[in-house]
Amino acid sequence: MFTIGCHLSTSKGYAHMAEEILSLGGNTFQFFTRNPRGGSAKAIDESDIAKFKDLCKNNGIDIILAHAPYTLNAASADERTREFARETMADDLLRMEYTPGNFYNFHPGSHVGQGVETGIQHIVTMLNEVMKPEQTTTVLLETMAGKGSEIGRTFEELRSIIDGVELKEHLGVCLDTCHVYDAGYDIVGNLDGVLEEFDRVIGFKRLKAIHLNDSKNPFESHKDRHEKIGEGSIGIEAMKRIINHPKLRELPFFLETPNELDGYAKEIFLLKELYEN
Ligand code: FE
Ligand code: FE
Ligand code: ZN
Repeated sequence: MFTIGCHLSTSKGYAHMAEEILSLGGNTFQFFTRNPRGGSAKAIDESDIAKFKDLCKNNGIDIILAHAPYTLNAASADERTREFARETMADDLLRMEYTPGNFYNFHPGSHVGQGVETGIQHIVTMLNEVMKPEQTTTVLLETMAGKGSEIGRTFEELRSIIDGVELKEHLGVCLDTCHVYDAGYDIVGNLDGVLEEFDRVIGFKRLKAIHLNDSKNPFESHKDRHEKIGEGSIGIEAMKRIINHPKLRELPFFLETPNELDGYAKEIFLLKELYEN
């Protein structure tokens, strides 16, 4: 089954997001747990959650993906910045248990000159503090474009983080097509080769979700600028191969393309046409 959706605004609550994605033709969605620039999250409204769960059950929404604020930097050289990341993620993971069994994606972080190894150690330390054996949420490390000192531009860096985490059963990876192409993995010319490398370095069982984005920039430019599906350097043919690839086609796909809701509806429709049933 094709699981496809897009990023939605959190401001009107969970039930509203479910209704919205259904109206766009999707069956999953991504949302920020709080303002993307940080700050405190809205209180959980239990009646909203109950309505949301009903909508999901009755309409085949089986999984959703929360995204941590992108300012969160667990790899920072500044202890207070790391502490903010830890507190935010701990709080987010508690809130996620109101909607059990879903995904929580975050950007590993930027080492800001300390070096990749030190940055990775900070990330591992935080994950080992905030992850709990009883959690039902799977935490996802996002593959990054390698802008500035971002960690996660290579599969090896993600593997090093995974190696250090104790509760690996609650840990996975979200592959962002714009980011990996920008990072230098040729998913246009050699998708099979990139996936084989992912399997060798990280292991397919860790791959839980795909951020489906085209890229404004050419291969390996480390810029991280998303483009509409089919309008960037990745292109529609590669997108078709990605959503239909035997190793990927059962994963949930999330659009983070520069669109308003009507643009997302068009892309979801287009991709459903391209998906081979
Ligand atoms: Fe992201
Ligand atoms: Fe992404
Ligand atoms: Zn991005």
